Amino acid sequence: MMSSDLPPRLRSLQAVDPDIAQAIESEVERQASTLELIASENFVSEAVLEAAGSVMTNKYAEGLPGRRYYGGCEFVDQAETLAIERAKKLFGAEHANVQAHSGSQANMAVYITVMKPGETMLGMDLAHGGHLTHGHRLNFSGKTFHIVSYGVRRDIETIDYDELERIAIEQKPRLIVAGASAYPRRLDFERFAAIAGKAGALLMVDMAHIAGLVAAGVHSSPFPHADFVTTTTHKTLRGPRGGAVFCRAENAKKIDKVVFPGIQGGPLMHVIAAKAVCFREALLPEFGDYQRQIVANAKVLADTLQAAGFRLVSGGTDTHLLLVDVASRGLTGKQAEKSLEQAGITVNKNAIPFDTHPPMVASGIRIGTPAVTTRGLKEPEIRQVGQWISTVLGDPENESIIRRVRGEVEELTEKFPLYENRRTAVAQRSV
Ligand code: PLP
Repeated sequence: MMSSDLPPRLRSLQAVDPDIAQAIESEVERQASTLELIASENFVSEAVLEAAGSVMTNKYAEGLPGRRYYGGCEFVDQAETLAIERAKKLFGAEHANVQAHSGSQANMAVYITVMKPGETMLGMDLAHGGHLTHGHRLNFSGKTFHIVSYGVRRDIETIDYDELERIAIEQKPRLIVAGASAYPRRLDFERFAAIAGKAGALLMVDMAHIAGLVAAGVHSSPFPHADFVTTTTHKTLRGPRGGAVFCRAENAKKIDKVVFPGIQGGPLMHVIAAKAVCFREALLPEFGDYQRQIVANAKVLADTLQAAGFRLVSGGTDTHLLLVDVASRGLTGKQAEKSLEQAGITVNKNAIPFDTHPPMVASGIRIGTPAVTTRGLKEPEIRQVGQWISTVLGDPENESIIRRVRGEVEELTEKFPLYENRRTAVAQRSV
């Protein structure tokens, strides 16, 4: 390939490190030619990519805007101030810290702010949809604090709030964590807050998965109810990989001090600039249309799969994701993930509540619509995607079916291109 065919940002890379240039080109092609249904992923705008790939990566800026430990911070201060102000406006928050490198570090910041090692925290069981940082024994949260887990009711597979209340009153935790990574239904933040109030606990909502839905008012907001709210910026919110912490003004200083110097050093200013762009995009009216389409697409996918005989955990979805019980069709999550991947449809295996398989095998797959919705897929295409999933999983070892679906997926992805300019560059390259 002629180097002039490469997108401008990769020309130097091609000269300096062709191996990495090749890996990135291949990833561009993979993203362009497959259907991304991993519920925690999305495709950022080119504006976000440009900010994240900018010279702000060169800058040390320990501290906060206007109060840094380094000179030369005038312009990174502008970027971080914009990120903070936009984040507060987007969610109606009193205070935002946008420096958390990730969702995990955002959660760590709140835990360290409110708890001493050994104190009790209530979090949703990973096996019922919670996140590792909500108290898993292999995570810092489970190693540092005394964790009591809650989960879903076996019969209806939604959060058992009565049982949560019973546990909270009995255990008197310092903190209750609401939020999940694989829960297809709405969270009742009002109920969580009432339970925290009765138990004398603080409430933290980890809205990582649903932040975009919350920003658009498609899911109710945790802000009127929670003492602390954390998020990632890269899921439904469609920003760069990173985290943020929100709280009331009275806790602002404590949170900021735990993020830096408590658990982090220099903030990633290029990522913070990209977060500012993401928040700006999320404040635009089109973002609301996008979030409504995510949920509409998830409902259509749920209906299509149910009509094809699949059992969905909790019987459906109110959000951007669904959990499909593939064991009800004699498959494992591992097998389903692999066959779908061969057909160009990317999902992840996922435990379902009361799963009898270990997590690396799992009885379910988690499917999310944020990324395909960014790509422009609407109800008719999503119905087709549901039919492909059903066809592949109906005979998962059948190579000719997988090959046929792979071809059809590719045709669809060509009709809905991602990053048109880079796709073209990659296409020219293979000629
Ligand atoms: N919280 C929830 C609910 C998540 O789903 C995730 C990631 O999947 C995280 C926190 C952690 O985010 P990160 O991967 O940025 O550490």
